[in-house]
Amino acid sequence: MSQATPPAGVQGRHLAELDQGRFLIQRCQDCGQHIYYPREICPHCGSKAVEFVAPSGRGTVYSTTVVRRKPAEGGDYNVALVDLDEGVRLMSRVENLAPDAVQIGQRVKTRVLLKDGKGLVVCDAETGEEE
Ligand SMILES: [Zn+2]
Repeated sequence: MSQATPPAGVQGRHLAELDQGRFLIQRCQDCGQHIYYPREICPHCGSKAVEFVAPSGRGTVYSTTVVRRKPAEGGDYNVALVDLDEGVRLMSRVENLAPDAVQIGQRVKTRVLLKDGKGLVVCDAETGEEE
Protein backbone atom coordinates (compact mmCIF):
# COMPACT_ATOMS: atom_id res chain seq x y z
CA MET A 1 0.00 0.00 0.00
CA SER A 2 1.56 3.23 -1.09
CA GLN A 3 -0.06 6.60 -1.20
CA ALA A 4 -0.17 8.07 -4.66
CA THR A 5 2.35 10.86 -4.90
CA PRO A 6 2.10 13.32 -7.76
CA PRO A 7 4.86 13.07 -10.34
CA ALA A 8 7.64 15.59 -9.89
CA GLY A 9 8.78 18.21 -12.36
CA VAL A 10 6.77 19.56 -15.23
CA GLN A 11 4.22 16.76 -15.17
CA GLY A 12 3.51 17.39 -11.51
CA ARG A 13 3.18 21.09 -12.23
CA HIS A 14 0.77 20.33 -15.06
CA LEU A 15 -1.41 18.16 -12.80
CA ALA A 16 -1.32 20.72 -9.99
CA GLU A 17 -2.47 23.46 -12.39
CA LEU A 18 -5.23 21.20 -13.68
CA ASP A 19 -6.46 20.64 -10.14
CA GLN A 20 -6.71 24.44 -9.87
CA GLY A 21 -8.82 24.50 -13.02
CA ARG A 22 -6.06 25.62 -15.36
CA PHE A 23 -5.12 23.67 -18.48
CA LEU A 24 -1.61 24.52 -19.63
CA ILE A 25 0.55 23.21 -22.42
CA GLN A 26 4.19 24.04 -23.09
CA ARG A 27 5.92 26.12 -25.67
CA CYS A 28 9.58 25.91 -26.59
CA GLN A 29 11.29 29.29 -26.41
CA ASP A 30 13.93 28.18 -28.91
CA CYS A 31 11.97 26.58 -31.76
CA GLY A 32 8.52 27.97 -30.95
CA GLN A 33 6.76 24.61 -31.14
CA HIS A 34 4.11 23.64 -28.64
CA ILE A 35 4.50 20.53 -26.51
CA TYR A 36 2.00 18.26 -24.83
CA TYR A 37 2.18 16.07 -22.72
CA PRO A 38 4.64 18.16 -20.64
CA ARG A 39 8.34 17.37 -20.94
CA GLU A 40 11.48 18.69 -19.37
CA ILE A 41 13.15 18.94 -22.77
CA CYS A 42 11.67 20.01 -26.11
CA PRO A 43 11.12 16.88 -28.24
CA HIS A 44 11.49 18.96 -31.39
CA CYS A 45 14.89 20.56 -30.83
CA GLY A 46 16.24 19.31 -27.49
CA SER A 47 16.07 22.71 -25.81
CA LYS A 48 15.45 22.95 -22.08
CA ALA A 49 13.88 26.39 -22.49
CA VAL A 50 10.28 25.20 -22.36
CA GLU A 51 7.62 27.31 -20.67
CA PHE A 52 4.02 26.72 -19.72
CA VAL A 53 1.44 28.65 -21.72
CA ALA A 54 -2.34 28.69 -21.82
CA PRO A 55 -3.61 27.20 -25.08
CA SER A 56 -6.43 28.79 -27.07
CA GLY A 57 -8.45 25.75 -26.05
CA ARG A 58 -9.76 25.33 -29.56
CA GLY A 59 -9.17 22.19 -31.52
CA THR A 60 -10.42 19.53 -33.89
CA VAL A 61 -11.43 15.94 -33.19
CA TYR A 62 -8.81 13.64 -34.72
CA SER A 63 -10.42 10.36 -33.68
CA THR A 64 -13.37 9.35 -31.59
CA THR A 65 -14.42 6.17 -29.81
CA VAL A 66 -17.46 5.21 -27.80
CA VAL A 67 -16.63 3.30 -24.65
CA ARG A 68 -19.58 1.10 -23.74
CA ARG A 69 -20.64 0.93 -20.11
CA LYS A 70 -23.69 -0.36 -18.37
CA PRO A 71 -26.11 2.38 -17.28
CA ALA A 72 -25.46 1.45 -13.64
CA GLU A 73 -21.78 2.24 -14.23
CA GLY A 74 -22.53 5.62 -15.74
CA GLY A 75 -23.47 4.71 -19.30
CA ASP A 76 -21.50 5.01 -22.52
CA TYR A 77 -18.94 7.74 -22.83
CA ASN A 78 -16.79 9.28 -25.49
CA VAL A 79 -13.02 9.18 -25.79
CA ALA A 80 -11.58 11.54 -28.36
CA LEU A 81 -8.13 12.46 -29.56
CA VAL A 82 -8.16 16.19 -30.11
CA ASP A 83 -5.66 18.22 -32.10
CA LEU A 84 -5.37 21.66 -30.55
CA ASP A 85 -4.82 24.59 -32.87
CA GLU A 86 -1.35 24.90 -31.30
CA GLY A 87 -0.44 21.61 -33.00
CA VAL A 88 -0.51 19.21 -30.05
CA ARG A 89 -2.74 16.18 -29.58
CA LEU A 90 -4.42 15.18 -26.35
CA MET A 91 -6.78 12.51 -25.19
CA SER A 92 -10.03 13.96 -23.93
CA ARG A 93 -13.74 13.48 -24.30
CA VAL A 94 -16.57 15.49 -25.78
CA GLU A 95 -19.14 16.25 -23.11
CA ASN A 96 -22.00 18.08 -24.77
CA LEU A 97 -22.86 15.52 -27.46
CA ALA A 98 -24.12 11.95 -27.30
CA PRO A 99 -21.03 9.70 -27.22
CA ASP A 100 -21.71 8.33 -30.71
CA ALA A 101 -22.58 11.73 -32.19
CA VAL A 102 -19.01 13.00 -32.01
CA GLN A 103 -17.44 13.18 -35.46
CA ILE A 104 -13.91 13.37 -36.77
CA GLY A 105 -13.22 16.95 -37.78
CA GLN A 106 -15.64 18.32 -35.19
CA ARG A 107 -14.51 21.66 -33.81
CA VAL A 108 -14.27 21.61 -30.03
CA LYS A 109 -13.19 23.80 -27.14
CA THR A 110 -11.47 22.47 -24.05
CA ARG A 111 -12.34 23.21 -20.47
CA VAL A 112 -11.28 21.79 -17.14
CA LEU A 113 -13.78 19.60 -15.34
CA LEU A 114 -13.14 19.51 -11.59
CA LYS A 115 -14.27 16.45 -9.74
CA ASP A 116 -13.24 15.50 -6.21
CA GLY A 117 -10.47 18.09 -6.37
CA LYS A 118 -9.00 16.61 -9.53
CA GLY A 119 -8.95 18.46 -12.83
CA LEU A 120 -9.66 16.72 -16.12
CA VAL A 121 -9.51 18.26 -19.58
CA VAL A 122 -12.78 17.74 -21.42
CA CYS A 123 -14.17 19.31 -24.59
CA ASP A 124 -17.42 20.80 -25.75
CA ALA A 125 -18.38 20.76 -29.40
CA GLU A 126 -18.54 24.24 -30.89
CA THR A 127 -21.86 25.07 -32.44
CA GLY A 128 -22.68 27.52 -35.17
CA GLU A 129 -19.15 27.77 -36.50
CA GLU A 130 -19.29 25.50 -39.54
CA GLU A 131 -16.48 25.91 -41.99
ZN1 LIG B 1 12.24 23.32 -29.34
